Amino acid sequence: MGSSRRDFLKNTALASLGIVASKSLASPIAETFIPDPGEKFVLPPLPYAYDALEPFIDKETMQLHHDKHHQGYVDKLNALTKGTMNMAQSRAEQCRGVNETTSAVIRNNLGGHYNHSVFWSMMRPGKEAAPTGVLLTAIEAEFKTYDDFKKAFSERATKIFGSGWCWLILDENNKLKITTTANQDNPLMAFAAEKGRPVLALDVWEHAYYLKYQNRRVDYINNWWNVVNWDYATSLYNNTAR
Ligand code: MN
Repeated sequence: MGSSRRDFLKNTALASLGIVASKSLASPIAETFIPDPGEKFVLPPLPYAYDALEPFIDKETMQLHHDKHHQGYVDKLNALTKGTMNMAQSRAEQCRGVNETTSAVIRNNLGGHYNHSVFWSMMRPGKEAAPTGVLLTAIEAEFKTYDDFKKAFSERATKIFGSGWCWLILDENNKLKITTTANQDNPLMAFAAEKGRPVLALDVWEHAYYLKYQNRRVDYINNWWNVVNWDYATSLYNNTAR
C-alpha cells in the first residue's frame, strides 16, 4: 500500500469523525479525500449516512445524487476513457488537462466525477459552523466579514442560469475568489474564466435539491450552510496555499 493510499484511508476515517489530520496538510495534493487513481474510476463512498444531512438535505436526494447521478458519471467515464487517460494522475490533474480539444462527454463526466467527489466531503452532519483559523482570516481579508462572504457566495449561486456550480477558489495569485461554472465544468479546467483550486464547492443542479425544495433554490442554498464541512474546506485551502 502506497503512502498516499494510507493517507487517504486515514484521512477518510478521520474525516468521518469530523477530524482533519493536521499532518495531511503538508500533502501536495489537495484532493486527499478522493481515492487514488487506479485502473478504473471509482465512486467514493459517502463519508456519512444518506440521511445524515437531514433536515437540510434529504435522504432520498442523497441516495439518488450519489448512487445514480455520480455513479453514472463514473460508469460513463470508465466506458469512454478505457486506456486513454493517464490514471497515474490525480483527478484534479486530469481536470487541469481538460481543454478546448477535449471531447464534451469526457469533459462532462470527468468534471462530474471530480466535482461530486469534492462535494460529498464538503458536507458533514451537525450544526452550522463558521470557518476558523487561516481560512477565516483569508475570507475576512477578501470579503470583510464571514457574513459578507456568505451573502456574496449565496447570491452568486442563486443567480447561476441553468445547471452549474458555485465555488470559492484560491486563484493563481493566492487570492480567494467566488466564481461559477456551467454544467460539470470546474475552475481547474484550462478554459475556466477564473482559474484556481477549489476551497468550497456547491452543486446547484436541480438534481441536488429539487425533490425537497422544488424551485426554491435559494432555500436550498441557505440551508446548505448548515452542513458545510469547514475542516475539509480548510484542508483544501491549506494545501492550495502552499
Ligand atoms: Mn450533482
